[in-house]
Amino acid sequence: EVRVRMAPSPTGSPHVGLARTALYNWAFARHFGGTFVFRIEDTDKARNTVESYDSLIDLMQWLGLDWDEGPLKGGDFGPYRQSERSDIYADVLAKLREHGSTYDCFCTNEEVDARRKASGSKVMGYDGHCRELTAEQRAAFEAEGRKSVVRFRMPEGAITFDDLVRGEITFDSQFVPDFALARANGDPLYTLVAPIDDALMNITHVLRGEDLLSSTPRQVALFEALKEIGVAERTPRFGHLPYVMGEGNKKLSKRDPEAHMELYRDQGFLPEGLLNYVALLGWAIAADRDIFTLPEMVEAFEIGDVNPNPARFDLKKCEAINGSHMRLLTVEDITKRSIPFLKKTGVLSDPVNDADAKLLELAMPLVAERINKLAEVPEMLGFLFIDEADFTRDEADVAKLLNEDGKAVVQASYDALSALPQWSTAAIDEALRKKLVEELGLKPRNAFGPVRVAVTGRRISPPLFESLELLGRERSLGRLQSALG
Ligand code: GLU
Repeated sequence: EVRVRMAPSPTGSPHVGLARTALYNWAFARHFGGTFVFRIEDTDKARNTVESYDSLIDLMQWLGLDWDEGPLKGGDFGPYRQSERSDIYADVLAKLREHGSTYDCFCTNEEVDARRKASGSKVMGYDGHCRELTAEQRAAFEAEGRKSVVRFRMPEGAITFDDLVRGEITFDSQFVPDFALARANGDPLYTLVAPIDDALMNITHVLRGEDLLSSTPRQVALFEALKEIGVAERTPRFGHLPYVMGEGNKKLSKRDPEAHMELYRDQGFLPEGLLNYVALLGWAIAADRDIFTLPEMVEAFEIGDVNPNPARFDLKKCEAINGSHMRLLTVEDITKRSIPFLKKTGVLSDPVNDADAKLLELAMPLVAERINKLAEVPEMLGFLFIDEADFTRDEADVAKLLNEDGKAVVQASYDALSALPQWSTAAIDEALRKKLVEELGLKPRNAFGPVRVAVTGRRISPPLFESLELLGRERSLGRLQSALG
C-alpha cells in the first residue's frame, strides 16, 4: 500500500514549492490508489502562526487536493499536528537513549567553532566531542550549570540511498556529523520528529523539496535506529523535487510576490489551471503537451519522470495555461466563478440585482474568450455597470489616445451615432466604419481606439460595437461627449 504525506510547517504564507509538493504527493497517491496524509509540522512554537495554519487548509481546499488523513479529517494514525504528539516523541527519544543511539552534548557552539579552527578542519558540524563522556565529566558539566542537547550517534561509514528522482546518492560520513535531536529545554527537533512520524504513520514514500536533501542521510540513519527499537518497520523511499527558480535564475524566494499562492487566488486563477502549471515545474505529461486535467495527470504521473534539474517559474506561462483552462469552461461557469470578483470590486452589488444579472449574462460571452484570470472580468466589464457619476478613464490611455486627433475621431463618432435610428451592434458597426474608415480614411486600428477609451475608459475592452450596444444609446453618447470636454 502506498502512503505519502505532505508535512508543511505553518509559518508564513503558502508558496509555490509547497503547492507543487502537495500536488505531486497527491497525484502519486491517487495514481496508486494509495493514501495522502496531511501532517502539520508545528514543533517550532516561535515561528508557527494560526493564520498560516488556516491558510494552508484554505489553500488545499481551494486547490481541491483532498487529503485522506489529517486536519479536519482525522485518521488512524493521528494526531496529525506535531504539537499534539509531544508524548510520542519523548517516548521514542527515551527508547533511543536506552538503546545507546544518542548522547547528551554539553558543548556550546563557540567551543565547537574554536575546536574546528584550532584543528584546521574544513568539516562543518559537530566533532563528536561529548560522545564518550565519563560520569565525572558529565557531573562536572552539570555542576557548571551547563545545559545539554540530545545528539544522535551517527554510525560509521557512508550513507547511500536510492533517490526516486535523482538515483543513487551517497553522503560521505564526514559530511553527516552527529546531529541534535532535541533542544536543551527538551523540545524535539525536525530531524527527530519527521522520521518518527513517517515511521508511525507508515509512510512509504517521502516526496519533498530538494532543500531537504541534506537532512535525508541523517533521517536514513535514524530510521535504522528506529527499526532496531521496533518503532519503524521500514525506511521509506525518498524523492527530492527540483528547486524552482524565479527571475534572474535565482531560487524563487519568499520575497518574490509570485511565490505566494494567495496571489493566484486573489487574481482569479482557476485551481485546475494553476495546478496544471505547477505540475509542469519538474514534470511533463508528454514532450509537446502543456495542457491537461488533473485526472489525466493522476493517470500519467510517475515520480521517476520528474526532472531533477531546477524548474523555471514563468508567470506569463502560468497565466497562459490558466487562460487555456478558462477556455474549457462554459460561459455560465465562468460567470458563476466571476461573481465574487465582481462583488469584491464593487462592480456588482451583493445580492446582485436582476438588471445587473441580465446585463452580465449578455456581456460575459464578450469577454470569456479573452481573459486569462477572473480578476480581469471586473476590469473588462466594470464600465457597463458603473454609475455615470463614477465613471472614470485610465489616465495613461487617455493621454495616449484622447489627444487632438483622438478627440476628432470621438466627435465624428458622436455625430455618426447620434443620428442612428436603431441602436444595435450591426447598425453601430456600419455607421462607425462608414464614418471613420470610409469618410475620414482612418485605419480601423486608429479609428476605434479613441472611441474605446471614451466609452469603456480603457484601451483594452470587450469588442467595441457589442459594448456600445450593451451600454445603450444614452450612456454611450454621454460618454463620447464627456470625452471631448
Ligand atoms: N516541514 C518541512 C517543511 O515545511 C517539510 C518536511 C518534510 O517534508 O520532510 O519544509
